[in-house]
Amino acid sequence: MASEKQVLGSWGENLVKDHCPCPKCKKTKTFKLLPQNFKCADLICDFCGFLAQVKSTRVKNVNILPKTILGAAWLPQKERMNAFIYFPVYLVPQIQIPSATHL
Ligand SMILES: [Zn+2]
Repeated sequence: MASEKQVLGSWGENLVKDHCPCPKCKKTKTFKLLPQNFKCADLICDFCGFLAQVKSTRVKNVNILPKTILGAAWLPQKERMNAFIYFPVYLVPQIQIPSATHL
């Protein structure tokens, strides 16, 4: 059974896949989900090969960017950045339901 964190991650990935056009080729509905163990990327455009990572997080106010994002594979990300390879990150905030904080 998927954990709450996995459910949140999958929700964000599917939201971007279904609603965001590819920023490189501008086509819609071309994002496909990558396998879960693919490092630093969650989506690929099946037209142009654009790769993107999606980080979903729970927030109290979706209009304020969170200061930290947990669960990003920062070491591989840093190694790529040191090699001048940048994977764009979609940040998908989900409003935190007050009662859910005590689960
Ligand atoms: Zn594309």
